Amino acid sequence: MDVAAVTAVLQSDWLTQGPAVPLFEQSLATWSGAAHAYAVSNATSALHLACRALGLGPGDRLWTSPNTFVASANCALYCGASVDFVDIDPLTFNMSIPTLEAKLAHAEATGVLPDILVPVHFAGQPCDMKSIAALSKRYGFRVIEDASHAVGAEYDGSRTGNCAYSDITVFSFHPVKILTTAEGGMLLTQQPEIAVKLELLRSHGITRDSKLLEDTSAGAWYYEQQDLGYNYRMTDIQAALGTSQAKRLPEFLSRRRTLAARYEKLLTALPVTSQLQHPSTLSAYHLYPIRVQGTETRKTIFDALRGKGIGVNVHYIPVHTQPYYRRLGFTWGDFPAAEAYYREAISLPMFPGLTDAQQDYVVASLAQALE
Ligand SMILES: *Cc1c(COP(=O)(O)O)cnc(C)c1O
Repeated sequence: MDVAAVTAVLQSDWLTQGPAVPLFEQSLATWSGAAHAYAVSNATSALHLACRALGLGPGDRLWTSPNTFVASANCALYCGASVDFVDIDPLTFNMSIPTLEAKLAHAEATGVLPDILVPVHFAGQPCDMKSIAALSKRYGFRVIEDASHAVGAEYDGSRTGNCAYSDITVFSFHPVKILTTAEGGMLLTQQPEIAVKLELLRSHGITRDSKLLEDTSAGAWYYEQQDLGYNYRMTDIQAALGTSQAKRLPEFLSRRRTLAARYEKLLTALPVTSQLQHPSTLSAYHLYPIRVQGTETRKTIFDALRGKGIGVNVHYIPVHTQPYYRRLGFTWGDFPAAEAYYREAISLPMFPGLTDAQQDYVVASLAQALE
């Protein structure tokens, strides 16, 4: 099915952004309930565009979670803005709302409130978006959901991507994520003013739209560069793969949720903790992270499982501890909950093709390594 979709594009008149791109955008806009969706080259460029569309620039501030991939923070630096982090909840591994509240109150007193907050739906579980939206109204910051892990997740009965509690939502279609286009990302928004900016910035800041042109008299060849944009377009080849993958989203989610429920049951007897699932959320289960007790235990178990050919991983090395971020002034100890989580974290294999028998083997191997 995926192969046929890509072959059809190769035999068509279009290779780069053509008719397959809006079809893919429409499929995810419809799925999630967003009014506008823009496919781009990857989620990193999507985060950059989101920051640009919200006007982030030098002197501005963006806050995100330290328990994420570096791209959630780097987007601020691309814009010349500064980054800070909000420590995580030790049970959900998502940004802690009490910590966010305390940090905002302190920032207000010292005049350093953030311009943008980037909550990250870690492992596929949405953050507490109602609390975040209430705080954004009170303190005047904008919200970009980094939903790279959370295509197909639900919060309070509605689908992630509908931006009910944010300005923009970003999806990733990197091969390890829920859906793939090889490389790819998408921006979703309900706000027409943001949509216009995203469309412009995605392609060099250039428009041919007669409603937007400053000079309407020139001729049919005419276009205008109205802002400093980028070439962050997705190709039709990628979009055709995306549309084909999106048709299978319910099947992918269902299998991931079944696997998560099986892990939960199989792990009850073991001295490990799974991510607490908040009752108002339904995770897309991009990852299945667990905590084991102690840094030494983590390393022993990780090596034992890898030694058996089991594809365990660690998500994430806290962003502020990366050498680049330490050179900006961050240091170990700044965000203790994210660091404590990191020392004990292992992501167990989680993908729709994982069989029950393979999952049983993972858990048996984990039990053996913990003995
Ligand atoms: C994968 C990922 C990204 C970046 O996605 P790309 O599409 O590879 O650029 C950003 N944020 C998070 C949380 C991710 O997991």
